[in-house]
Amino acid sequence: MARRTVFLGFSCNNRCIVCAQGDLRASAPLASIEEASRTIDAAEPGDVLCFVGGEPTLVGELPDLLRRAADRPSVSALLQTNGRRLAYPAYADVLAQASRQLSLDVSLFGSSAAMHDYHTSSPGSFAQTARGIQNARARGMPVGVSVVVTRSNFRHLVEVVRLVRALGADALRLAHLEPLGSARASLLRISPNEELARPVLEAAATEGRRLGVQVTVGEPGEPGPRGRFAGLGPTA
Ligand code: SF4
Repeated sequence: MARRTVFLGFSCNNRCIVCAQGDLRASAPLASIEEASRTIDAAEPGDVLCFVGGEPTLVGELPDLLRRAADRPSVSALLQTNGRRLAYPAYADVLAQASRQLSLDVSLFGSSAAMHDYHTSSPGSFAQTARGIQNARARGMPVGVSVVVTRSNFRHLVEVVRLVRALGADALRLAHLEPLGSARASLLRISPNEELARPVLEAAATEGRRLGVQVTVGEPGEPGPRGRFAGLGPTA
């Protein structure tokens, strides 16, 4: 079994202060559909195809690529997304119909609109991401949620666990903030105090056990968005 990354470009409709890709969207090439297709065609039984961006749902060919992946025998697909476009039921239908082997890894940054939208620099993004998770779950897609822990959200991680449960997601990954991309310039401002954060992380794990949400905590050096999360996201 192998994880194979299907890269679909750096374009994104969020502008997160912790994005490991920073300003690559301004200079890097757009997605190569030919290369993505070649990666899919090379998948073997047991492999997981990890569709990553940027934001893969902005790529018009994504449903076709998911259908192509679904045609590979015993190959599953994981879509790393901010979930915003799945707020539209018609688009959620398209993805659900494209592949029955599709799981989502959705980036979330807090338990409220103010907290999440501060991190994404995108007003209205929380409402769309939350609705996107609900729409995906309503269509039977397994959903894991990934949260990069910052100074502005660490005190609310127990509430995040409750939100994840309320939205119907299956698992929560709490990722360490890494000095990459957009986070590099403002690391001191957005890094949580480790000593203060540790008991909250433990409380979040306890709440996860109580509510039946699988909570995992990343180690330093495991990159966050849009790096990859062990257990939920692809390895870059
Ligand atoms: S972290 Fe993800 S959702 Fe946020 S800007 Fe980067 S690619 Fe987009």
